[in-house]
Amino acid sequence: MSRGSQSSRAGKSTTTTPASVVVVGGGMAGLCSARELAAAGLAVTVLEASPDFGGSVAPHSLAGLTLDAGAESFSTRADTVPALARELGLGDRIRTPNPAGAWLQLPAPDGGRMAAPLPISGVLGIPADVRDPDITRLIGRAASVRAALDRALPLGSLLNQSELSLGAVVRARMGSEVLTRLVAPVVGGVLSADPDDLDVDSAVPGLRAAMRRHGSLGAAVGAMRQAAPAGSTVAGLDGGMHQLPAALVDVLKRDGANLLASEPVRTLTRRPDGWTVVTDSRTLEADAVIVAVDGPTAVDLLSPTLPQLARDRPEVVPDVALVSLVVDVPQLDAAPRGTGVLVGEGTPGVRAKALTHATAKWPWLADKAGPGNHVVRLSYGRASDTTAQVADDALFSAALHDASLLLDVRIGQADVVDWDVVRWNNALPHATIGHRDRIARVRAATADERGLEVVGAWLAGTGLVSVIDNARDRASALARRLLDAY
Ligand SMILES: Cc1cc2nc3c(=O)[nH]c(=O)nc-3n(C[C@H](O)[C@H](O)[C@H](O)COP(=O)(O)OP(=O)(O)OC[C@H]3O[C@@H](n4cnc5c(N)ncnc54)[C@H](O)[C@@H]3O)c2cc1C
Repeated sequence: MSRGSQSSRAGKSTTTTPASVVVVGGGMAGLCSARELAAAGLAVTVLEASPDFGGSVAPHSLAGLTLDAGAESFSTRADTVPALARELGLGDRIRTPNPAGAWLQLPAPDGGRMAAPLPISGVLGIPADVRDPDITRLIGRAASVRAALDRALPLGSLLNQSELSLGAVVRARMGSEVLTRLVAPVVGGVLSADPDDLDVDSAVPGLRAAMRRHGSLGAAVGAMRQAAPAGSTVAGLDGGMHQLPAALVDVLKRDGANLLASEPVRTLTRRPDGWTVVTDSRTLEADAVIVAVDGPTAVDLLSPTLPQLARDRPEVVPDVALVSLVVDVPQLDAAPRGTGVLVGEGTPGVRAKALTHATAKWPWLADKAGPGNHVVRLSYGRASDTTAQVADDALFSAALHDASLLLDVRIGQADVVDWDVVRWNNALPHATIGHRDRIARVRAATADERGLEVVGAWLAGTGLVSVIDNARDRASALARRLLDAY
């Protein structure tokens, strides 16, 4: 690693110039990486393709309200996000959501629809106790009897399979009704994924070990649930999660980092003493790079240097379209479906896969919206459905129709104060079967590159906790290597 190499920012190299690092991608992974590097005294430049920093944690404005356009909460399983919020002066804005919880909307046995509160005893919709009458009501008596076999049948060789999906585990232990009516709606609504595609060890880390210890799936999720911290499993920020990247940008600017938006990186080339980074308008020379973009783009940028990465280029995931409505409908003050609705596949007449009643979920937002006004966000993008691809006007009509059905309150055009469609392309990578092996290969391929780190949800796992923890760890390891090289 060269010391004080030339960079467009630092000018000619001198023995006192700090090592320079270019961070490619200004989402949460890139910004958190940049923060670690800047704190270590390194010269940091962040190149972001879009006009704004924050990636999937972004704001949009409707009816005078600034709302989250992407991520709107974080998991409380670790102190990661609260710690970052406190560091950024946002600690006093942390709020837990309305504990009322969400509902499920499912196909009914008579061909119609049925709605009920989502039982909250399990993990990702997997019930801890299938004899719970609330569960039986949702899956039916026969399916409940089948699911109860989980506690009686030996585990056999199921857990010995190295490549195992979450769907396969649930189906084998509790039957297909538990999978399609409880687990799939939650996994689809929360992770935008099909449980049959998800690697069980990545979707629910520790589940295999817990099943071995406790002898069944139900006992395992019950124990995991009990071991989790008491209280809400998620929290948010009063004012919205988009304040987090905005505050990071402020701190980075204050610390002298160079933040450049609308600068998509086109090529990355390794030199003997660093990297050359090329955008449409500039060429930068850096001692090291952190690649903090989506998986396919990361592999495309790095393949010329590390051709072995090409075999593990992740597939592009289906697009998600979110329709946000601000409506003036006082009947919604009663929060008829709690904080929102997760929709089972095949529910007649409904194309959305989930609805968040944001003003019911977040009291701070209800206060801002004012009496009778409500914010409702519907998400589209099932693999089996093309609604996410239709034009905005058609999506708006679908959202009005679906919101009325899901909330059981008629919402017409005249009730709409404002609306917006946000489309997320390839933004929710799935940990598909074999994920761990693929990640291990990617990590092995990049391990010998002392001036390179690769971060982001495609490697760390979707969700702010994993993304932030991983980015901070990797960036501080890189900073140590660069400083040791001096
Ligand atoms: C709709 C939605 C809702 C979500 N809700 C939640 C939630 O409630 N809670 C939660 O914990 N997580 C949630 N997530 C997941 C979480 O937001 C992400 O896992 C996390 O923000 C990903 O951060 P990242 O930096 O890895 O990727 P991104 O946020 O995707 O950032 C990558 C950045 O790289 C940029 N980029 C791409 N190519 C280039 C290039 N060639 N040159 C320069 N820049 C480039 C992109 O423009 C982007 O800004 C949600 C995600 C989405 C999409």
